[in-house]
Amino acid sequence: MANGNGKIDLKQVFGENVFNDEVMRERLPKNVYKALRKTMDEGVPLDPSVADVVANAMKDWAIEKGATHYTHWFQPMTGITAEKHESFLNTISEGRAITEFSGKSLIKGEPDASSFPSGGIRATFEARGYTVWDATSYAFLKEDEGGLTLCIPTAFCAYTGEALDKKTPLLRSMEAISKQALRILRLFGNTTAKRVFATVGAEQEYFLIDKDYYLKRKDLVFTGRTLFGAKPPKGQELEDHYFGSLKDRVANFMKDLDYELWKMGIPVKTKHNEVAPAQHEIAPIFENANIATDHNQVIMDTLKRVANRHNLACLLHEKPFAGVNGSGKHNNWSLSTNEGQNLFEPGKTPHENAQFLIFLSAVIKAVDEYAELLRASAANTGNDHRLGANEAPPAIVSMFLGDQLTGILENIENGNGNEKREREYLRIGVNTLPPLPKDSTDRNRTSPFAFTGNKFEFRMVPSSASIANPNVVLNTAVAEVLGEIADRLEGAEDFDSEVNAIVKEIVKNHKRIIFNGDGYSDEWVKEAERRGLKNIKNTVDAIPAWISDKSIKLFTKHGVFTEVELRARYEIKLEEYIKHINIEARTMIDMVKKQIIPTVVDEITSIANSINAVKMVMPDLEVTTQAELLRELQTNLNLLKKETFELEAELEGAHRFNGDIFEKACLFRDKVAEKMKSVRVYGDKLETMIDENKWPFPSYEKLLFYV
Ligand code: ADP
Ligand code: MG
Repeated sequence: MANGNGKIDLKQVFGENVFNDEVMRERLPKNVYKALRKTMDEGVPLDPSVADVVANAMKDWAIEKGATHYTHWFQPMTGITAEKHESFLNTISEGRAITEFSGKSLIKGEPDASSFPSGGIRATFEARGYTVWDATSYAFLKEDEGGLTLCIPTAFCAYTGEALDKKTPLLRSMEAISKQALRILRLFGNTTAKRVFATVGAEQEYFLIDKDYYLKRKDLVFTGRTLFGAKPPKGQELEDHYFGSLKDRVANFMKDLDYELWKMGIPVKTKHNEVAPAQHEIAPIFENANIATDHNQVIMDTLKRVANRHNLACLLHEKPFAGVNGSGKHNNWSLSTNEGQNLFEPGKTPHENAQFLIFLSAVIKAVDEYAELLRASAANTGNDHRLGANEAPPAIVSMFLGDQLTGILENIENGNGNEKREREYLRIGVNTLPPLPKDSTDRNRTSPFAFTGNKFEFRMVPSSASIANPNVVLNTAVAEVLGEIADRLEGAEDFDSEVNAIVKEIVKNHKRIIFNGDGYSDEWVKEAERRGLKNIKNTVDAIPAWISDKSIKLFTKHGVFTEVELRARYEIKLEEYIKHINIEARTMIDMVKKQIIPTVVDEITSIANSINAVKMVMPDLEVTTQAELLRELQTNLNLLKKETFELEAELEGAHRFNGDIFEKACLFRDKVAEKMKSVRVYGDKLETMIDENKWPFPSYEKLLFYV
């Protein structure tokens, strides 16, 4: 709690609302605690009798804290979280409430799954969905205006076992990478590590604007981004200016935000430093990929809730404002043993460094081989305005390693086929592999996938999306390559030379993915094309990668997705794209017809009246200013109306299309979204010509600078 002088005791506050290890140890009988820990650490299934005891302790703890309800908190394929609240109230006895929470209710819930997307899975199997407790992610209390709710992180599946959520495949992919990484570690003599975790720290960017302005913009309310908005006289070059004026309000918000997140055990450190006006970032300390993904969902949810409390609106959209930097999520990813060894930390001895180079090579190959899947994992409608649109990062997947590391790999590659010499090269390489300074390796901010000293930073991830899919792809792709490498090393006669041969081969075959230059430049686009790297510019083109033969082979082999699950996701993603564009187009049409046209007509009428009035009073005077303005307004209004009618027609046409869903999504992209751009041109033009007090919604100036 904040004490008298408003200071927060971080140690006391942190995790206050989490049913964490400390609470479990305190409240559970020793044998139950041990059994639960085994489930959490080693994935051993939980005994139902243990679950009963845990559930009861959880309930007592939650009720003592003031909770009345619990919910199975899950992540359906919409990418946001879902909850169905149930009260702890069980029966009434002699007028008194009896609370109950059984192990069964803890372990399994049965939400009505019909309103969540299933991509045909439920229809195919005619089964309901159910949620299963994920004991590896702590239950926590969520506090909002409605009180405290015990949130139990769960996976969400169909009765037939198909995953209907984002968590299940993520957990499966973590299994896969742990298994393959352990094989490599054993080969390098590590006999003690029991598990390898993918670790993730997601930096979250967002915009904060005044809520009163927000509520006056249908586009922000319905679509999360502005569909109109003329450029303000000042853009993002004036970050210094905006910083001064919004400091207090934003600082207050951030303080409150930190506090809320800390209570839920989310280790955040906030930052204020984003490029665009009104843009900010929050970054937690990294955790295992599953927990980091859960926590990122809670962060997004809490950002919105706390903003609301401060009469602010938090925009998580990838591109809320045209002409201003968009938002992303930097997914920092690494591998760590349960003993805490970071596998991407260059080592101190040649032996350790050889292991490092094997893991590094595995990522190089994985990113090159599965670049299209990585791209697909970062695709959503909002990100189409960001990736490849003259902004960070480009849509081409490439990898930044820095000159030092690239040089070492080149040396290894250039060993000339003589086995002895090759081995020397590897040794030279690893002997001279200095500790890589973490920050200075990250000189390149334009790379979509950068090695930053002891982790990788995948920067394409959309700001509003769950980070589950990018990590599912990363984990599985790297697991696959590690598996291939382990196969070879396990069968090798001479381990050292096989290590060397593998690194050399991977560098030779996959170095096209390595690029240390300016990822925003036009030259890179051409160079990437020469190298045969794909430049997948939009979501619709990115989605089919999920169901390519390569993808199906990869994911089914590692038990991460079945083919049915992949096809379901393919459908859902295309449907989602169509829905988003549809809502945007309808909002745009609505704004034109109900807001812009009436405003401009009024303005035109008043100018016409002015012309008449002036002519009446002073017939000899030339009324050129009004006359020219009137002509220009009327001309642009006519064009706006014409484009809007065409947009309506395109939208109708796209809806009428009854064929393949992919082709339908293409229509929404090429006909509808394209037409929206023309409508916007005239809307924005008219905005610049009209009294700002009469324009029907707040300007960019107000949204971005008057926070
Ligand atoms: P920046 O990218 O701004 O330089 P940092 O390097 O400090 O910032 O960290 C960015 C994010 O990367 C943080 O969330 C941090 O916890 C995370 N991170 C650091 N080390 C690892 C790791 N080994 N695995 C995953 N994420 C990590
Ligand atoms: Mg970063």
